[in-house]
Amino acid sequence: MSTKMKRVLEPTAPIFKLWETAREEGTYFYNQPIQEFLDDGKVLVNGKEMGMYASYGYLGLLDHPRINAAARQAIDEFGTGTHGVRTLAGTLPIHDELEQTIADFKHAEAAITYSSGYVTNLTAISTLLGRHDYVFSDKLNHASIVDGCQLSGAEFKRFRHRDMEHLERRLKKAPPDVNKLVVADAVFSMDGDIIDLPSLVALCEKYDALLMIDEAHSVGVLGKTGRGIEEHFGMGNVVDLKMGTLSKTIPSVGGYIAGKQKMIDCLRVVSRAYIFSAALPPAQAAAANEAFKVILDEPERVEKLSANTEQFISGLQACGFDTLDTETAIVPVICGSIDNALQMTKYAQEHGVFALPVISPAVPPGLERLRATVTASHEPEEIDRAIDVLSAAGKAIGVL
Ligand SMILES: *Cc1c(COP(=O)(O)O)cnc(C)c1O
Repeated sequence: MSTKMKRVLEPTAPIFKLWETAREEGTYFYNQPIQEFLDDGKVLVNGKEMGMYASYGYLGLLDHPRINAAARQAIDEFGTGTHGVRTLAGTLPIHDELEQTIADFKHAEAAITYSSGYVTNLTAISTLLGRHDYVFSDKLNHASIVDGCQLSGAEFKRFRHRDMEHLERRLKKAPPDVNKLVVADAVFSMDGDIIDLPSLVALCEKYDALLMIDEAHSVGVLGKTGRGIEEHFGMGNVVDLKMGTLSKTIPSVGGYIAGKQKMIDCLRVVSRAYIFSAALPPAQAAAANEAFKVILDEPERVEKLSANTEQFISGLQACGFDTLDTETAIVPVICGSIDNALQMTKYAQEHGVFALPVISPAVPPGLERLRATVTASHEPEEIDRAIDVLSAAGKAIGVL
């Protein structure tokens, strides 16, 4: 084997070993095909009907008739692809319409879309920052943010998770005359907790830094009408770069940045993922466009998600589970070890609860967990049933 190949394969050897053992013991749960999406937040996996607790479809919008119809109509009009980048022949009316819809939804002047959320973070951060600039990133930020920071070549300063004093110390130490960007997830994808936006805004003002917030898990989730973190804190238009994905609450694919017209114009002219990668397919753009409208037209979905979240978290806590500081639909059920997390998952899936484990190194050792997400599709009785299953699993395995 070439040495280059070895360099790629060797670091992954312990993970392969772990999965090999897991496969033998029937505790390998990743990459399982979802055979069918059923009603009421249920899915068919391995021929078995299960409550779906591993979905980011927080508002249950997948298969919504209005969204499906919009996608179908776009295919009928424009076919299935764009054959090109937006700058040249890839822009369709639906792309401009989608960007206007996002800008309106986020109360921003303008928006730009890319082909995924991952690529959006990568390209936006590396376009706006370069060598000599400083970027300050929460330690639990999503991998796409970390990769974007590294690609930018800027000084990459991480601050302790949600620790505003630590962030301030780091900001204070940066030279006064450099460009600064502070970036954080609105809702953290592993822990479900919320960033302290008011403090971030104050610090960014004090130290003259731009603020970027990744709203992958907050659009449709936070705020009375689901518009996200600014609405949640009752703040106006305070975030400079409002980043989001079209693949979670929004049942499509793609990513976006909403913000000041000038900033969006700049990204449109120079960000490489816009200039050198094909436009979103018409059906996906149309589906996303319609989904934002459905969220505003059907506010009862946001209300139901909020009630379901409250029921799920308080129910699990009443059983004695540690759910960290989650206040949202992402609920970490701490299991304490890799083995416990795998056994909990096995028990849950055998009893009709489809949730998945997150283990180290994705989370710190000791904080291995079952990561369960609740959505607006679940009915209260179904949530109670899932809590009962997890409670029984916790007792059987010794987590409780
Ligand atoms: C999922 C996710 C992304 C990436 O979005 P995709 O559209 O799936 O590429 C970015 N940031 C966070 C916080 C995410 O959870």
